[in-house]
This record gives sequence, C-alpha cells and structure tokens, in this order.
Amino acid sequence: MRHEELEELIPAYALGALDGEDLRAAEAHLQAGCPRCERLLQECSGVADHLTESLPDVPLPPRLKERVLERIEQEGRVEAPVPPSRRRPWLLPWGLAIGATAAASLLFWNGLTLRQALERERAGKVEEQQTLAQDIRRLQDQLARREVDVTRLQAKLNEEETRLQEQKREAAETVRNLQVQLQRGKALLASLQGRLAGQEAIIRVIEDPQSRVVTLGGLKPAPEASGKVIWHPVQQTALFYAHRLPALPSDKIYQLWTITERPVSGGIFAVDHLGNASVRMTAIPRQVKTFAVTIEPAGGLPQPSGAIYLAGSL
Ligand SMILES: [Zn+2]
Repeated sequence: MRHEELEELIPAYALGALDGEDLRAAEAHLQAGCPRCERLLQECSGVADHLTESLPDVPLPPRLKERVLERIEQEGRVEAPVPPSRRRPWLLPWGLAIGATAAASLLFWNGLTLRQALERERAGKVEEQQTLAQDIRRLQDQLARREVDVTRLQAKLNEEETRLQEQKREAAETVRNLQVQLQRGKALLASLQGRLAGQEAIIRVIEDPQSRVVTLGGLKPAPEASGKVIWHPVQQTALFYAHRLPALPSDKIYQLWTITERPVSGGIFAVDHLGNASVRMTAIPRQVKTFAVTIEPAGGLPQPSGAIYLAGSL
C-alpha cells in the first residue's frame, strides 16, 4: 500500500472504524514508526474523543436510512472501480451490507465533522497569524518612527556640534587677539615707563639748583635757529633743545659737540618738520666751555668737519 493510502486510513483508525486488511495495514505502519502519521493520529484522536463525547447529543442526518438504502441499491447495480487487490466480495448478507454501509455513512459524516473541526482550527490559526501580522506591522511602524526620530536627533546633534566648533574657533581667535593686544599693551607700557623715567630725569636736571643754562645762537648758515643746553656739572649730564634748524639732505646729519681743549661728540640728531630736536647728553666733561652743532655726513664723525650752525658758551 502506498503511503498516501496509509495516511488516508489514519482518521478512520482514530475513530476505531477500520477493520480487516486496512486495520492491519494501519497498525503495521504505525508500529513501524512513522512520525507524520503518528502526529496525524494524535490530532485526529483529540478531535475523535471530542466527537465521541458529543456524539450522543448530535442527531443523525435526516433521511439517513433512506439514503443508505438508495446507495445499496445503486451499488448493487453499478460496480465501483476498485483496485483488484482491494476488491471485496459483494456477496454479503443484507444485514451485514446495511451495517457496513451505515458505518461508512457514519464515518463519512464523522469525517465531515472532523473536517469542520480542522477547518475551525485552521481558521483560528489564520486569525492568530493575522493578529501576529498586525502586531508585526505595528512594531515596524513604531520602529520606522523611532528611526525618523533618531535621524532627526542625529542631524540636530551634528548641527549643534558644528555650532560649538564655530564658537570654539571664534573664542580661540578672540583669545589670540586679546593676547596680541596684551603684548602690545605691555610693550606700550614699557615704552611709556621708559619715557616717564626720561622725563623724570629731565625734570630733576631742570629743577636742580646746580643746573646751568647755556643759550646757543644761530650762526651764518641758519641765523634764525636757536638752541639751549641745561647742564648739570655734578651729574655730568645735559639736555639740549634746538629750534628752527633747516631741514638737511638725507646724506647729512646734525652733530652736537662739547668743547674743552678739543671737541667731543655729544651725539647726532635729526630735526622734525619745524626744525626742532632734543638730545639727552651724558658723561660731559666737567671743564666744558662751549656747546656747538655742526652739519656732518650721515652717521656723524669723531671730529667736526662741516659748518657750525649753533654755538654757545658758559
Ligand atoms: Zn505514515
């Protein structure tokens, strides 16, 4: 017997409706151990038990008896094509024939109920699957929304990060600018402190009663020019101021001299656009008699060589 045929026998076997060759074949097959048929048997047994329990309350289909009798009559006339190996003798007594056909009808009806039960179970499974599918769709929707949220947050985060970096860059630039300004401020302060110290030294010289003032007059090349030296004989320092000296070509420079036995350079100087200049002199010989200004080549010379522009004596 083919497996399909064997499998078809299992529901009837579960109902205890098999006999003879079919019963033996089904038993042999199940004993040989077939997981598929075993499972089917278990499923059918559950339904069969249920059917058996409920059977007394279920009325038999109407006109069953008539239909059975009609069927017997028909089968008596037209022989159904049955495989030769399964052919059964029809020379059964009437009672037995009626009983067998009634059992077959009951089995058919029970099979119908079994199919309905299976159908209900299948419908239940389908419903369960639909619920599950709905749950999955809902979760997918939630997930999609979360993904959108995450993407939006990520974008916001990136934006924020860019903004912070920009701020950081600006802050760093501000710090650099402030540092530059601070350095400039410090340099300016140092310069101012230097100038202040210079001014204080000048004031001390001017205020000191020991200081002496020497007036310098403009000579022939610059008769309108004038000068003044405030000289401190103890400190051996002097402040020199010039007014209205003429502008010089770039290869010439004014040079200041202190003259004792011979001239000693007191430094070179340039004048502003009004012809004014000031020079602070140090280490002036105590015996100085005369102060003078000459015009010399740029850079000055150890001894005067050019024309005298200003001169004044103690
Ligand atoms: Zn099997």
